Amino acid sequence: MEFKTDALVLRSADYGENDRIVTLLTAEKGKISAAMKGVKKAGAKLNFASQPFCFAEYVITEKSGRHTVTGAALHDGFFALREDIAALYGAACVTQACDMLLYEGMAGEKLLVAAVRALGTLSEGVGAGAVVRFLIEALSLAGYPVEADVCPVCKKTPAGRMKFDMDLGIFTCNDHSDGVPASESTYRSIRAALHGGEGSDDGNLRALRLLGVYFAEKTETELKALGEYLRLLHPLF
Ligand SMILES: [Zn+2]
Repeated sequence: MEFKTDALVLRSADYGENDRIVTLLTAEKGKISAAMKGVKKAGAKLNFASQPFCFAEYVITEKSGRHTVTGAALHDGFFALREDIAALYGAACVTQACDMLLYEGMAGEKLLVAAVRALGTLSEGVGAGAVVRFLIEALSLAGYPVEADVCPVCKKTPAGRMKFDMDLGIFTCNDHSDGVPASESTYRSIRAALHGGEGSDDGNLRALRLLGVYFAEKTETELKALGEYLRLLHPLF
């Protein structure tokens, strides 16, 4: 059986002398692995489609549960990412998060749209706010929502020192939960990301750090690219 689907390369690994195995986030079937034969040979036509961050329409053949890519038409390769090491690590946060959050059978379309949007923003040289926005959306699609609204206990807007409740994914006043300590700039950046705005640079860094802790708590896996991304954005952070 052959099908066409928009997909983003999350990972690519060499296989044998000439082949690669790509992990794709597809609109149609969520996450799948597919073989790409002969793409390491000089002049291979489909080499571009086996590169990380490639977003293309893939033609995939399915036989006894195995997938093979037989064609691809490029939408965007996000090539500008290769020229900015921080943007590249920001993009790696996006693809790693997709890879780790997508469980078997989970629909991929909304996550694909969010990931492609984030990679587009990063390749235009816009930074951490795009990764904050993406992580919130991806976590929420995986069933781990993040909210920055009123404190659920007293219904007031938290201010000053506050807490982030890891169970519920919400901010509370400092005395109204046993969550992890969080700052007002973190709250403001996450609130801005949820409402289509942009947080401060400092707030975005803090928001990323908090989202990394929340991600690890929920998935029991570490988003490895995030630590390096934070170091590149702010060496003293
Ligand atoms: Zn409160």
